[in-house]
Amino acid sequence: MCGALRPADAGRKAVLMGWVNRRRDLGNLIFVDVRDRSGVTQIVISNEANAAVHRKAELLRNEYVIAAIGTVKQRAADTINKNIPTGEIELVVEELRILNEAKHPPFLPGDTVLAHEEMRLKYRYIDLRREAMQFNIEMRHKVSLAIRDYLASQGFFEIETPFMTRSTPEGARDYLVPSRVQPGTFYALPQSPQLFKQILMISGFDKYFQIVRCFRDEDLRADRQPEFTQIDLEMSYPQPERVWETVEGFLTAAFKTAGHKITTPFPRMDYDEAIRRYGIDKPDLRLPAFTEVRDCFTWDDLEQLAINQDLPVVAIRIPKVGELSRKERDDIKPMFIAKGGARIFEDFKRIENKFPAAGVNIRKESGAGEGDLLVLVAGSAQSGKDDHPAQKRKVTPAELAIYASAGLLRVSLGQKYAAKHGLFQHGDFRFLWVTNFPMFEYDETDRRWVAAHHPFTSPHEGDMDKLESDPGMVRALAYDVVLNGTELGSGSIRIHRQDIQRKIFHALGMTEEEARSRFGFFLEALEYGTPPHGGIALGLDRIVMILAGAESLREVIPFPKTAAAKDLMVDAPTRVTDAQLRELGIGVVKR
Ligand code: ASP
Repeated sequence: MCGALRPADAGRKAVLMGWVNRRRDLGNLIFVDVRDRSGVTQIVISNEANAAVHRKAELLRNEYVIAAIGTVKQRAADTINKNIPTGEIELVVEELRILNEAKHPPFLPGDTVLAHEEMRLKYRYIDLRREAMQFNIEMRHKVSLAIRDYLASQGFFEIETPFMTRSTPEGARDYLVPSRVQPGTFYALPQSPQLFKQILMISGFDKYFQIVRCFRDEDLRADRQPEFTQIDLEMSYPQPERVWETVEGFLTAAFKTAGHKITTPFPRMDYDEAIRRYGIDKPDLRLPAFTEVRDCFTWDDLEQLAINQDLPVVAIRIPKVGELSRKERDDIKPMFIAKGGARIFEDFKRIENKFPAAGVNIRKESGAGEGDLLVLVAGSAQSGKDDHPAQKRKVTPAELAIYASAGLLRVSLGQKYAAKHGLFQHGDFRFLWVTNFPMFEYDETDRRWVAAHHPFTSPHEGDMDKLESDPGMVRALAYDVVLNGTELGSGSIRIHRQDIQRKIFHALGMTEEEARSRFGFFLEALEYGTPPHGGIALGLDRIVMILAGAESLREVIPFPKTAAAKDLMVDAPTRVTDAQLRELGIGVVKR
C-alpha cells in the first residue's frame, strides 16, 4: 500500500513516500505531514515505541523526501482532521528512510500566502508541488484526455504536423529557427497547423485533430503566451453545423470531467446582431444586452443633448449596482474609450430630471429596476459623415464606433460591479456561436483590406461576385465559439478551389508573385482534387483556465513564460556562443 491512505486501510501495513510538508515535534511524539500527489497524510513517530526511528525523525526538515513504513491507524475522535481526505487516519511509523534531503526552499508548497509570481516561476518545481497547481495540471490532463477520447470515438485521427516549417498565415510575427545546413535560411515555428491540416484533407484523412502547440511572436497581453496549445481540427465535406456539433461534443465531455453539465446546441448569433446588441463579437451573455433608446427621446431632446440623430443611442444596464456617489459616477468616465465620435452619458439621473418622459421610456424599454445602473452611449452631433469603404455594411463604421465603445464599457462595468450584480458565478457557462463575420476588415493605417479570419476562409457562396467589386460586403463562412465573453476558438469553411483562393489573395492586395512565393505549395496542392473542407481551433489553455477557475493562463500551463516572453526557470531566451552563431552564418546586430 502506498499513497492515498483512507479510513478503510486502518489496521493495514503501508508504505508512504513523499515530501515532508510540515513537522511538529512534541518531544516524545513527532508528527509529520507527508505530501504526495494524492494529498497530505499524517505520520506519527513515537520515542517510546521506537527510539531509533524517533531520532531519525528529528532530522526531518521541510521538503525532505522520505519513505515511512508502518501501520495505518484510525485517529482518536478528537484528533480527526475534517479538512483533508486522509484526516481520519494516520500512519504509525515503524521504519523511516530519508530518501533525499532538501535545501530550505524560497517558499513552501504549503504556504498560505502565495510567493511573488517571479519567484514562483523561477522555482516552478516547488510551485507545482502546491495543491492548487497539482489540481490545475490534473485538470489539464483530464480535459485533454476527454477531448481525445471523444474525438477518437467520432472517427478523428490525431495526426502530428511539423514544428519546423515555413511561415503560416495567422498574421502574427513568426518565431524563426535558423538552418545550419543551409545558412541564411530559416524555418518558422507554426502559428497554427492551418495549411497542414488542409493538406491532410487533400491527403484523404477526412477527420483530423491535434492537441498542438502553436507559436506566435506577439506583444504579450496579460492572457497571452508565446507558445500555447490549440485543439485543432479539420473535416472534409462539412456544413458549419457538423463542425459545431463536433465542438459541442468534445466540450461537453471536457466540462463533464470537471463536474459541469453543459447544454447543447449552443445558441447562434450573427456577427451583426452581436455588434448591435453587445457591441462586441464575443458577447458575454450573462449581462443584459444593450437597449436601443434613441426613439425614447424627441428630436428636440437629442438636439439639446448634441446627440447625432442618425446614429444609435444605446443604454447599458448593469443590474443591482445601487445608488452611486458622485465620485463613483465620475470614475465611470475614464473607463469609457470613445471610438469615432462616441459620447458617454454616465449620469442618468440628470437625463431623467431634464427629460422625464425619455427617462420613463428608457427605464421601461431596458427593464431597469430601481438599483440598476444605466449608462447611455451615443454619437456626437458632428460624427457620422462617412465615406468609409465599409459604409454600405448593415452596421456602418460610424454605428460600429458607437456600439464598440459601448460594448467595451459594458464589459468593464460588468467586471467592476461583479460583486454587486452577482451574475458571474463559477459554473454558469453561457456558450454562443457567432457566425457570418465579414470576410475583410479595412486597415486604416495601410488603407487596404485584410482578412478578418485568415485568407483560407471561404466567402459565402452568395457573395462571391462582390469579391472584387465590393469586398467590404463579402461575408465569410467563419464562426467563433464564445464562452462568457471569451473567444474560445474560431474556424471556418475553407476555400477548396484554386481560382477562388487566387481571387482572395488578389483582394488582399497580394500580387501573383507574392502569393506564389508564400503559399505556392498550397496553391498547387489545391489543384490535385481538394475536397470541400472546414474546421476550427480552440485554445486548450483558456478552457482549462476557465474550468479550474484560475485567474491567468500561467496557472494552468506547467512551464509558462512571463509577459516579456521569458522562461525564468531555465532562463530563456539566452545568448549563444560565437561558435554557434558562426556555424549558422548569423551575426548579431547590437541595438
Ligand atoms: N488556424 C486558425 C487559428 O489558429 C483556426 C482555424 O481556422 O481552424 O486561428
